[in-house]
Amino acid sequence: MRSLVLIGHGSHLNGESAAAVYRYAEMIRARGLYDEVVEGYWKEEPSLRQVLKTTASTDVTVIPMFISEGYFTETVIPREMGLGHQGPVPPEGVARVLGGRTVRYTLPYGVHPSMSDVILARAHEALPDSSPEDTALIVLGHGTTRNENSNKIVYQNAEVLRQSGQFASVHALFLDEDPKVGTWPEMVKAPRVVVVPFFASEGWHTLETIPEDMGLEGAVTTFTDNPHGQQTVYYAKPVGTHSAVADVILHLAEEAAGASTSDGDTERVHDAAWSVFMDRARQGLRFGEVLVQPESGVFELRHALDEGRPGHELQTLVTPEGVRDFTRRDEGGHHRPVHTLRNMPRGWRAVMAQADLVRAVQYLYPAVIEETYAQSCHTLRPTPWATTARRQTGIYARVQKATPEQLEEVAADVCGGCLRTRLWAGEKLPQTFFDGVPGAIPCAEACTFLVAEVREEVAGKRGGGAS
Ligand code: SF4
Repeated sequence: MRSLVLIGHGSHLNGESAAAVYRYAEMIRARGLYDEVVEGYWKEEPSLRQVLKTTASTDVTVIPMFISEGYFTETVIPREMGLGHQGPVPPEGVARVLGGRTVRYTLPYGVHPSMSDVILARAHEALPDSSPEDTALIVLGHGTTRNENSNKIVYQNAEVLRQSGQFASVHALFLDEDPKVGTWPEMVKAPRVVVVPFFASEGWHTLETIPEDMGLEGAVTTFTDNPHGQQTVYYAKPVGTHSAVADVILHLAEEAAGASTSDGDTERVHDAAWSVFMDRARQGLRFGEVLVQPESGVFELRHALDEGRPGHELQTLVTPEGVRDFTRRDEGGHHRPVHTLRNMPRGWRAVMAQADLVRAVQYLYPAVIEETYAQSCHTLRPTPWATTARRQTGIYARVQKATPEQLEEVAADVCGGCLRTRLWAGEKLPQTFFDGVPGAIPCAEACTFLVAEVREEVAGKRGGGAS
């Protein structure tokens, strides 16, 4: 049995931030090569602290869904996942045995050598008849003075494509450092120019900054008075959203497994947690804001406050992804980065077979079954606030300065709207929803949403919400 974990950044504010990771997880899941494909996030749930608990096997490969190496892939993800590694990840990745699971952590997908194929695919989409006689290629990176690795990979890909001989010339240009993208008319001589943004997703830079800096007016722009004469620019979509990235992810995962031919086993504690959940679900269970009822061999889920409402008044959902997408926002349309906040929308019912029920519940309440089961077994270890605060780096190191009063004030505000009981603050939870108390869900550690709010409080900027 093998689990593949895709790690994204996520966002406390923007519900679309996780969409690319969802999409690649779905594409890889559909290929059936792994027993499960799980997603985890820095700023959403399941969090980096929780995600390993949610994997069903003892053989876990973790892929950071980032376009380049840097602070997140080298510091934040390994630290938060407890990998016992900091700094550059070696080409063969990092392997650890954690709590009975063999965990392999790889380089981010963006640095894999096969990304040059993705650049080429994007270039051919934008200009199918490109030729070495008259077409130049620009590989366009973000560039930053803080992380030289993000440039290195752009230069490497440009060199590989230069060697391929498929273009008259290949250039590595950047938004934020020299050689800057705005210098392209002096540097590029070919009459046709394909520009491929080496970016993870479509966004502000690919939609606005790059076109503005290059003087583009759409997917195809002709310039008549450039220093090297008339030139037509074909602007491609970013590499990170190409479906071939799914192949890159699979290459990385297989390389991480190396010569190992044996798969893992079913993870015993995870299996026990879900067995208990399924036993309760077969009898009908209310947990959090959700009601599960067995119904002629399948299960029906709905918001507990919709109990008794006729089915035709509710929107019927038939896939776990449908449940995920419906409950990603509250009734006001706001993103829900913390799923146990009491703001799950009403008005839906989901009808699921057993296998889909598990995935739907994982989307509704990520890591809740595993952590609540551990609480029932007295094995859930709370992490005190001081330890969480000490671990923070970068812009979040500031939370170490929070006074107990500031922490309490923010927690009363944020956690007051959450179903979870703050074990990390010394609160007690003698019973859980497994014992028939629907709202009794443990919180073993302050979530990143609370940490972000504490940071705002310490900075004197609270009131605008976490970012
Ligand atoms: Fe909920 Fe507060 Fe725990 Fe975050 S820290 S999960 S808001 S109880």
